Amino acid sequence: MDTSPRPSAARLACRPLRSERFLLTGVRLFDPEHGVDLEGDLLVEEGKIAALGDKVARPPGVDVLDDLAGCWVFPGFVDPHVHLRTPGYEYKEDLVSGSLAAAAGGYVTVVAMANTDPVIDSGPAAAWVLEQAARDALVRIGQVGAVSKGLRGEELAEMRELADAGVVAFSDDGRPVTDADLLQHALRYARGTGRPLLLHLEDKSLSLDGVMHEGKWSARLGLRGISRACESGPLARDLEIVRYMAAEDRRLTEGRGAAGAEAPGHVPMVHFQHLSAADSVALMRRAKDEGLPVTAEATPHHLLLTDEHLGSFDPNLRVNPPLRSAADREALVAALADGTIDCLGTDHAPHAPQEKEVPIEDALNGTVGLETAFAALYTGLVLTGDLTLARLVEVMSGAPCRVLGLVEPHLTEAAPADFCVVDLDETWKVTPAHLRGKSRNSAFLEETLTGRVRLTVVDGARRFARARGEV
Ligand SMILES: [Zn+2]
Repeated sequence: MDTSPRPSAARLACRPLRSERFLLTGVRLFDPEHGVDLEGDLLVEEGKIAALGDKVARPPGVDVLDDLAGCWVFPGFVDPHVHLRTPGYEYKEDLVSGSLAAAAGGYVTVVAMANTDPVIDSGPAAAWVLEQAARDALVRIGQVGAVSKGLRGEELAEMRELADAGVVAFSDDGRPVTDADLLQHALRYARGTGRPLLLHLEDKSLSLDGVMHEGKWSARLGLRGISRACESGPLARDLEIVRYMAAEDRRLTEGRGAAGAEAPGHVPMVHFQHLSAADSVALMRRAKDEGLPVTAEATPHHLLLTDEHLGSFDPNLRVNPPLRSAADREALVAALADGTIDCLGTDHAPHAPQEKEVPIEDALNGTVGLETAFAALYTGLVLTGDLTLARLVEVMSGAPCRVLGLVEPHLTEAAPADFCVVDLDETWKVTPAHLRGKSRNSAFLEETLTGRVRLTVVDGARRFARARGEV
């Protein structure tokens, strides 16, 4: 057993490509968290941002990408919550197709959940995925380790071994951690490894075979509902446990004096996944006021769509947690704007046609999200004045890194070249042909969106490029 006091580092894996030398000209460089907002050029060399601004010298023979003039350059996006379906469900998505979808959406890093077959509940399983990613992935892949063996919620997974294999965090996502004693033990282990626990909130005795949010639309449509309490009930309990554990942490730290300063790290103790309900937002706001070490995410579909849309009986709108009421959606948007919700997570959940193109009662839960996240939110929240562009970039780039303890991409000289380039004027209609991932079950099909990712760069190499107007 490894008894080293220092937690091992998380590992992000991606296919290495030879770094390139190229120059973007006449772009808007926008990294609000690091005080960058200027027009000019950006030179990439040897994997780094070699120069940026309005006085960048043009080295002889450099590849000049002047077709991107007028586009915006953002620090690369980071998604703390995706399902890449590897191993076991490669018919839905694999590391090649999932990382292509990520690159097409402007993402430089995505974090894969553990609910695969087999479940990622041991060091060798996590190491296997990261080996594949190092060979196949276009963008960096981080892997989550399971909290419980087989996601069964009975016995802890090999958490220390998973951490040593390089997992970013722990989660039974897809399922809640129902057993409170198991949750307490998991929190103690996770703290020892310097990783956060990512929690999927769901009272299974309430959600049952529910299809959509319980409210007037479920009654009208005759579909079984899932109440807000299905999420806020477990959230209230989990916050109580965090409160207790945080007090335990404080006692331990005080007992150790200054020597305790290296633990328990800077990541939150618990990160709550895909919040959907106004009641949950209220609980989260109180927890943060109190200073509890917790963070939360919301998905683009919960921030943009409501239960009323289920009137179309579109199986792609069947997601877990369900799309909720207009009031819930408004509460989520306000919480994202004021920081009660820390970051965005797409919960990218690819499914095959035979799993989705069926009556909504029989459809599996989930929507793909990587390729539409930025454009959907830019169109639905920024252009409407509900969210600033600066906050959107923050919740898609720096904020998820702080939740997971990862290095934040930034647009400064000598920083690693990890960024995306977006045309904020281009509009496009989301059709299956526009999606590069293996599955096309998007909640945003047929929507017309503004903002199109034109280039994604990881480690100074172009991982994805699209000409203006190209599908
Ligand atoms: Zn989930």
